[in-house]
Amino acid sequence: MSAAILVLNAGSSSIKFSVFMLQGEDLEQNVRGQIEGLFTAPRFVAKDGDGRTISEKSWGDGFKLDHAGALDHLNRFLREELEDVTLVGVGHRVVHGGLEFMQPALLDGNVVAALEKFIPLAPLHQPHNLTPIRVILERSPELPQVACFDTSFHRTNPPIAQRFAIPAELHDAGVQRYGFHGLSYEYVAAVLPRYDETAASGKTIVLHLGNGASMCALQGGRSVASTMGFTAVEGLPMGTRSGSVDPGVLLYLMDQRGMDARAIEKLIYNQSGLLGVSGISSDMRVLLASEDARARLAVDLYVYRIGRELGSLAAALGGLDAIVFTAGIGENSAEIRQRVVGEAAWLGARLHQRANSTGGPRISTARSRVAVWAIPTNEELMIARHTARLLGRSLRSK
Ligand code: ADP
Repeated sequence: MSAAILVLNAGSSSIKFSVFMLQGEDLEQNVRGQIEGLFTAPRFVAKDGDGRTISEKSWGDGFKLDHAGALDHLNRFLREELEDVTLVGVGHRVVHGGLEFMQPALLDGNVVAALEKFIPLAPLHQPHNLTPIRVILERSPELPQVACFDTSFHRTNPPIAQRFAIPAELHDAGVQRYGFHGLSYEYVAAVLPRYDETAASGKTIVLHLGNGASMCALQGGRSVASTMGFTAVEGLPMGTRSGSVDPGVLLYLMDQRGMDARAIEKLIYNQSGLLGVSGISSDMRVLLASEDARARLAVDLYVYRIGRELGSLAAALGGLDAIVFTAGIGENSAEIRQRVVGEAAWLGARLHQRANSTGGPRISTARSRVAVWAIPTNEELMIARHTARLLGRSLRSK
């Protein structure tokens, strides 16, 4: 029997999963996939290590498959697919660890209760992250589970970077800048020494550009500032999230448009960003391929806002040695990377055109004062590593 760790990333309408085999002291990704369309039109797909589809199932429109039902299906699939494999632990992505959880945590009823306190801080994500944890605690209480938080990595930010200029009473009640995408940044910080010793020990800005997007300033591999704050809506424009808007706009919408909190939530989380500006799509590939002026404006605004945040984070660092692109857009879009590096010319970044078009990993010229890299992130592996460590398995760093 070989041992494996299951990694789960549960959202409101999907559960993504990855299985990592414990091979001696290494972790090797095996099967991965997702169940999406929960409650509406559920669909399961699983792929092997080479990206080949090995199992699919659709439940049809209107089938009310919930998270517990999805986990049942996943459990059955894993038992059949990985007959000779014992699951030794489950690692979960949990968006919010508040100020309390500076590290991943082994889960039990008390820890889950502590994490429920953060639901008001991340109402769109936290409850769904916790649902599979509760289901597994109930059905397989002997199976160790670990929560890995998107916020923990930013707890090294100096206090001033975590502060809003609002009355102390609100700050003390938890209205603070937490930062997100921490597992992605932690992974990049962990592999950076392999690519660039100077960047790893120096001043680096990492751009996590996926459906969600943020940027993080690393000093010696530790987070000192980031563009996301109290929620994962601050900072850059994203696929459907607005990023920062003047808080006065929200008051105006309440007063003049009669919008309540739910309507504003929908606006800034689901109807804004690339989708809202273009009116066409939240998908960067669609916008880059479009001739429509609104699509161009959405991309222009995206790049412009990244450029401004580069200046802000370089100021927080007091200099800059390297820029790292990661996640869907950062890893795959040579065009966006080229335009962003153009915005960073004043900081001393020079793009190597050919290296950029073939994906790097180093995409700056030899003479560029700031090194620029495209490095794939792997949040699932980070979660699997933390889980293995908390289960007392020692791993070679890989
Ligand atoms: P998530 O945040 O959901 O994990 P990803 O990191 O997978 O998302 O990023 C999704 C985004 O990456 C989408 O906007 C998609 O258009 C974009 N993307 C993926 N491949 C490319 C590409 N070749 N060129 C431009 N954008 C891309």
